[in-house]
Amino acid sequence: MHKKEILCECNSELPESIKIGYRNYKLEAWKQTVATANEASGQLFITAGVLGYNQEEKGVSHANTILHEIMHGIIYQWNMELDDKVEETIVNSLANGLTTVFVDNPELLGYLKTKIKEG
Ligand SMILES: [Zn+2]
Repeated sequence: MHKKEILCECNSELPESIKIGYRNYKLEAWKQTVATANEASGQLFITAGVLGYNQEEKGVSHANTILHEIMHGIIYQWNMELDDKVEETIVNSLANGLTTVFVDNPELLGYLKTKIKEG
């Protein structure tokens, strides 16, 4: 029989920073003009420890941007040493794919959060 578990009370607030490996990245909301100039919805500044995102972007696109930049951080943190173009392709595909999986399986994140809390 399928065991029903109580899913998390998910926090909808964006944290001030995101820890990737030993490093904390401060989240910074960009105005549309800055984001447009960079032709990106987000950017990870490794040296400065900043994750910038377009403050105009909402919903699934915003979630996708945060996941995208986190993946760049993971690639850096775990020394994957990829060519820039290859890195962008991998990050784009995995972030878009993962976002789609989360959209298509709305209870999955809550379940994963519950499991992670169990340690
Ligand atoms: Zn990217």
